[in-house]
Amino acid sequence: MTHDAIIIGGGPGGASTAIGLARAGRRVALIERAAFPRRKVCGEFISSASRPVLDALGVGEDWDAAAGPEIRRLALFMGARVVTAPMPASGGAGRGLGRDVLDGLLLDQARHCGVEVLQPCRATGFERHAAGHEVTIETTQGSTTLAAPILVAAHGSWDRGPLPTQAPKSHAPRDLLGFKAHFLESGLDPELMPLLSFPGGYGGMVRVDGGRVSISCCIRRDVLKGLRQRGETAGDALEAHLARSCRGVREALDGARREGPWLAAGPIRPALRPCYADGVFRVGNLAGEAHPVIAEGISMAIQSGWLLSRALDGCDPSMAEARDRAGARYQAAWRRQFSTRIRAANAFAHLAMRPARFAGLGGLIAAMPGTLTLGARLSGKVKPVC
Ligand SMILES: Cc1cc2nc3c(=O)[nH]c(=O)nc-3n(C[C@H](O)[C@H](O)[C@H](O)COP(=O)(O)OP(=O)(O)OC[C@H]3O[C@@H](n4cnc5c(N)ncnc54)[C@H](O)[C@@H]3O)c2cc1C
Repeated sequence: MTHDAIIIGGGPGGASTAIGLARAGRRVALIERAAFPRRKVCGEFISSASRPVLDALGVGEDWDAAAGPEIRRLALFMGARVVTAPMPASGGAGRGLGRDVLDGLLLDQARHCGVEVLQPCRATGFERHAAGHEVTIETTQGSTTLAAPILVAAHGSWDRGPLPTQAPKSHAPRDLLGFKAHFLESGLDPELMPLLSFPGGYGGMVRVDGGRVSISCCIRRDVLKGLRQRGETAGDALEAHLARSCRGVREALDGARREGPWLAAGPIRPALRPCYADGVFRVGNLAGEAHPVIAEGISMAIQSGWLLSRALDGCDPSMAEARDRAGARYQAAWRRQFSTRIRAANAFAHLAMRPARFAGLGGLIAAMPGTLTLGARLSGKVKPVC
């Protein structure tokens, strides 16, 4: 065996698992295919419930120093409506931080804790043996294999590829595609995080580091196709649709300038999935994914990495039964922590994508803005993991 644990993917799920395992004295290899810093489709908000885990991982102070302003209020931007409500908090406020900064910060901490980070390096396959797993990797120098009793799949859920843990390619009109862009000089209230409800999709806005405002959305493939004029990029068509559909977006982007092109990803696949299957542990999006309407995916990824490293604490990884028991403990803890918000996010997403059909709901929220705060509570914004 070359290591005690191999982790495929260096996003928030993989990096936090790596830190937790390395701190417990394991020899850990982490494989990340992209060179950092890299931009990524994501709204980039982290709720206050993740703060204790960031501290436990040793990055809380760095996050404080780098992240954007404290988010104190939520909003709903739906048609001409702009409704605001207090953001629930658990021991502090949530904040936004660009993934080009956050992911580098977590991976640097993993290196600092002794994790062998192989980057840029792609995992192209793995096989299960009695003693553990053999993982094939490709670097600029060529192909080689690593072996370890613990294998953690943390490569996210949006890409198709050759790994047994990756979903097969698919293409359907109702697929939800993810988009993100940064804007400078936006007039968005620094303390506000609006939820955007528009025909065929939903999204969010938040101020992150460096005065940037992150706008991220999910939109149905068929709706986006219908919006695009000849020669127009998908991002430009989406931006025009957002501005047409939400007064709040129009006002926040008045005089703002986009930094770089729109990024796209997906289709996204929100669902509850197995956290441990065929001897492989899964963290982050791969273990389960909430519709990003609740902006909890990074928090869930970080927290799931933490839960897994706790479940493996004291486990003798050379024993298959011990790994299976750890897998069962981890899945039970994961489901307790996250199942409710995945179901809540599902309901919120379907309402937000049909503003005309649920216009009455918009009126109800305007009359009782506290329902927004309640929705954020159901989304796990005040449910710390440790
Ligand atoms: C539109 C949108 C907005 C969102 N907004 C928010 C938000 O505001 N707040 C929030 O908390 N969440 C948000 N999310 C969700 C969040 O982005 C994800 O839940 C989160 O990124 C999941 O983290 P992860 O570590 O599981 O996977 P990822 O962040 O996807 O990381 C996986 C890593 O694995 C690497 N990788 C993939 N394949 C391989 C391979 N074969 N070999 C080596 N490396 C590999 C990738 O390069 C990547 O770095 C949003 C999502 C979308 C679509």
